[in-house]
Amino acid sequence: MRVAVVGAGIAGLTAAFRLQEAGHQVEVLEASAQPGGRMASRTENGFRIDLGVHMLLEHYDRTRALITELGLQDQWFALEAGAGGVLRDHELRAFSPKNAFDVLRFRGISLRGRIRLFIELARARHWRDDLDFFDLSVGDDALDAEDCDTFARRRMGDEATNYVVDSFIRTFHFHGAHKMSMKYFEALAALLVTRGEFQLFALRGYMGALPDALAARLHVRCSSPVSSVIARGAGVELSSAAGCETYDAVVVATTPGAARKLLLEPSNAQRELLAHATSSATVVCSFLVPVAIAGDFEGIWVPFLESQIICGVSNETSKGSSDGQRCVFSVFLHEEAARHRLSRSDRELSDVVGTELVRLFPRYEGHLEPLFVQRWPEALPVYGVGQVTRVRAFWAHGQGDNGIWLCGDYLNHPWVEGAVRCGEKVAAGIGARR
Ligand SMILES: Cc1cc2nc3c(=O)[nH]c(=O)nc-3n(C[C@H](O)[C@H](O)[C@H](O)COP(=O)(O)OP(=O)(O)OC[C@H]3O[C@@H](n4cnc5c(N)ncnc54)[C@H](O)[C@@H]3O)c2cc1C
Repeated sequence: MRVAVVGAGIAGLTAAFRLQEAGHQVEVLEASAQPGGRMASRTENGFRIDLGVHMLLEHYDRTRALITELGLQDQWFALEAGAGGVLRDHELRAFSPKNAFDVLRFRGISLRGRIRLFIELARARHWRDDLDFFDLSVGDDALDAEDCDTFARRRMGDEATNYVVDSFIRTFHFHGAHKMSMKYFEALAALLVTRGEFQLFALRGYMGALPDALAARLHVRCSSPVSSVIARGAGVELSSAAGCETYDAVVVATTPGAARKLLLEPSNAQRELLAHATSSATVVCSFLVPVAIAGDFEGIWVPFLESQIICGVSNETSKGSSDGQRCVFSVFLHEEAARHRLSRSDRELSDVVGTELVRLFPRYEGHLEPLFVQRWPEALPVYGVGQVTRVRAFWAHGQGDNGIWLCGDYLNHPWVEGAVRCGEKVAAGIGARR
């Protein structure tokens, strides 16, 4: 079969790699000048910056298998300091939960809050065989009946919700817990209590090493934005600046907003799915900070009560983004702060974020050197109440309609591990449909 993949993010590249492996003739078309999408990296003033993905987890089984297959296993390393924390009242409260018991040791909230949180995590043992965090379609739709914020406030109280549940979701998804399905929380808690070890990993040097290695083994055309995808007879026609070409199948591995524009005549199921798919926005501002004052933390969650602008900070030193004198700090914005600032200049964004960073951590005053600004209008999919069930139904009826396959983390497949699994699932689906 001749297959085109639109989008060289990690989901599209994985799908293409598995399809090629199965003997199909595959071409990947990417709008940007480089592959990787939200997993791309770049070099700025000699410093490596991860534009999106900053860390990987012990539990990324399929990602790790891919890394090994591509010969990158020596680059996979554990983030050693592992120190992380939650900001409360201008103080960093140490918190890098490796298992449910670590929650009881967290000094950022009262003992009562910790116990309520621990009980809720422990209860998730119940779901251990029924839920899969990297495929939210797995398991009972009844768990998709309430949002995470309402669920958490009722079961764990305001303190645990504000400083742990909402804060975690904001740091890693940029939007609040009110937009997230409770099924997400239960699946994440089940992963934590059954497999423990929330050890963080990275790829030595830069995250883009994985998409780069995949792209090197594929036929990828960068700087080739596709303008439309439409079913024509037994094939699928794809238009780009290079003209129109017809393929046996097309994998649309873009964000949902881009897919909505590409599909000229979606099937009812594709239209319905894409109409409801939404994403959070964020901006990542990278600064250079003197190593002497940077501190040895790796990641900070900033609850919305503490800052309405910054939701997280990542110190990139242990990933090698340092020249010994200065290191890279990447600062992430809450959806609420990012959405209306996407069109602001780099300078304005760095000023706003730098000022807020100094308010939160006065010791950085006079030490922040703006390095790079990356805007993400579609940063992370919203796995909202109802959408999780809708996507699950789509996998059963609608996926692959008219030879057009949708692929990406928004199809109930969170983060890099989810995107890799989605790529593999789509490749297997195309093979099976044939
Ligand atoms: C700031 C940020 C931090 C993150 N941190 C982490 C993290 O630490 N750990 C983690 O696991 N995950 C993290 N994520 C999530 C992770 O990046 C995504 O889940 C994953 O990379 C999604 O991959 P994808 O292939 O589905 O989509 P994408 O990477 O978005 O790929 C889509 C591709 O399609 C291309 N495209 C769009 N339109 C067209 C067109 N018309 N023609 C051709 N090509 C087109 C795009 O340019 C892009 O390359 C983070 C995301 C962001 C934004």
